[in-house]
Amino acid sequence: MDPKRIAALEGRIAGYDVNNCGQFRELIEAYALGALDAEEGTAFEAHLATGCKDCAQAVEEARWLVNQLAYLAPSAAPSDMLKARLMQTVRAEARAAQGSAQPKAGIPLWMWAGVAALLVLTMYSAWDARRLQKEIQTVNESAAAEFRQREQLQQELAVAKRQAHILTDANSKKFAMWPHDTQMPKLEAMWHPELGICVMGQKVPMPSSNRTLQLWLIPKAPGSKPMPSLTFWPDAEGKLVLMVENPPDVMADTKALAITEEPAGGSPQPTSAPMWVGGLS
Ligand SMILES: [Zn+2]
Repeated sequence: MDPKRIAALEGRIAGYDVNNCGQFRELIEAYALGALDAEEGTAFEAHLATGCKDCAQAVEEARWLVNQLAYLAPSAAPSDMLKARLMQTVRAEARAAQGSAQPKAGIPLWMWAGVAALLVLTMYSAWDARRLQKEIQTVNESAAAEFRQREQLQQELAVAKRQAHILTDANSKKFAMWPHDTQMPKLEAMWHPELGICVMGQKVPMPSSNRTLQLWLIPKAPGSKPMPSLTFWPDAEGKLVLMVENPPDVMADTKALAITEEPAGGSPQPTSAPMWVGGLS
């Protein structure tokens, strides 16, 4: 006959006497948590099958406690490994304490310690995950900001390079833009057939807050309307550097450049007399 079966008939499973109630008291909470190994579980169930009312009631109480724990714990459940490791520790401590002070009815102290540790660990890991997530977010944000800054610098560098090229290239046509008002400064313009137009000036007065300066290309063809170009402002010191990349019209078809003051956002056609005009003779 199977030795296990013989042991069961003798009332012994995994070293437990199925009729000795006291032996099982320390296993009840672990049983309710589903943390007993198979043999211990079988032994305890065999003891319950003898009709022990004390143990049946204790199991019910422990199950209630486990349910409360599940209700209290954050949504991130502790991993099975964590639970198993915790229960192993708790049971080892319970075994060590066995014989000295038999736990009284109700929830033994080590179980409370276990529950507290489980809660703390679960909350810690949830908190840790949140903190990690936050850190990752911060790193991503600063990387994105750095990327944007670098992109902007590259853009500015490209404009500066193009501008330098327009100013130095022999193919650029240089001409003055004369002010209508003699109190205003003269502007300098350079037009490169491929790279675009560059207009520069010093001591250019700032238009009022809801106004802007706007550049116009005046076509050679008689009767044709001025072509609207960019709107712009001088900087705080009155320095003006205007770059028009890829102007919509070819230099040969353009008679002159003009600058007017327009409502903010610019106009489809000039609404005031030109403040500066420069002819491409
Ligand atoms: Zn019992």
